Amino acid sequence: MQPTADSLHLGNYLGALAQWVLLQDTHETVYAVVDLHALTVAPDPAVLRERTRRTAAQFLAGGVDPERSILFVQSHVSEHAELSWVLSCHTGFGEAARMTQFKDKAAKQGGEGPTVGLFTYPVLMAADILLYDSALVPVGEDQRQHLELSRNLAQRVNARYGPTLVVPEPHIVKATAKIFDLQDPTAKMSKSSAAANGIIELLDPPSVIAKRIKSAVTDAGREIRFDPEAKPGISNLLTIYAALTGRGVEEIAAEYAGKGYGDFKRDLADVVVDFATPFRERTEAYLSEPDRLDDVLADGAERARVIARATLDRVCEHIGLLPARRYRP
Ligand code: AMP
Repeated sequence: MQPTADSLHLGNYLGALAQWVLLQDTHETVYAVVDLHALTVAPDPAVLRERTRRTAAQFLAGGVDPERSILFVQSHVSEHAELSWVLSCHTGFGEAARMTQFKDKAAKQGGEGPTVGLFTYPVLMAADILLYDSALVPVGEDQRQHLELSRNLAQRVNARYGPTLVVPEPHIVKATAKIFDLQDPTAKMSKSSAAANGIIELLDPPSVIAKRIKSAVTDAGREIRFDPEAKPGISNLLTIYAALTGRGVEEIAAEYAGKGYGDFKRDLADVVVDFATPFRERTEAYLSEPDRLDDVLADGAERARVIARATLDRVCEHIGLLPARRYRP
């Protein structure tokens, strides 16, 4: 995840972070705050530094356990940028130009705004994934096309130079793969969303969170039913309710039979606030000890570098780069 906001939103948490935490039980897990990616939006240097720590603190608050996962900051492991260059020399210009996120973001920035970095962003993302011989990549639905590019690049390198890179699989959990905007339930919840009250930021005060849930757009009629086609607003709220309580959408809908949207939203506001409050408190606790946080990230970077270096050495050897030798006079 990029450190491009002060707070994660509910889509980041349910689509990605919650899955990261679960995968710790079954897999060796590697997670990064991808600060190099954040450079594509020209952040203020002080803000970028602050958000990098805040994002890492939120990963920890959400349950990423540095004893079980490698947690680090992307720019601390220079192999990401190096592999990215190699992969960019294996990516077609037209292939990169077809990435829908690039097209959307470039259209929003307009004119001379989009940088080459924004264009090659998915190649850097492929490097992030392929450096760790990743089997599974837990992301939201919006990253599916980028994942496909990572797979294509790994397959292309393998076809050209023999087995070199592991071809990753996306791990996209259908129920929470796309959390929608509360004001426009046909658009994904996103930090670049048009209306600020369409997103739930986890570090917001409880009063703001409750107000946004209560003012969420609902659908015609009064019935609380899970039907994403006919009732996208209520279905999105049911998805959030179910994911945060570990219950099923149908079971929750049945409980509200005969009740109105108002009751349902009031209870959902409590569910979200009950989740966000301890999350915010844990984040603040990590942020109050920046030295400890930096130590966790330094340890993670060291462990990440060992894996990344081995992969990059293998790539360099297979593609014909002359190994660097220590000079012995
Ligand atoms: P980003 O905000 O692009 O750094 O996204 C970080 C992670 O959150 C990625 O894995 C995204 O796929 C995921 N994500 C972002 N928005 C949503 C959403 N509305 N629903 C589900 N997952 C999301």
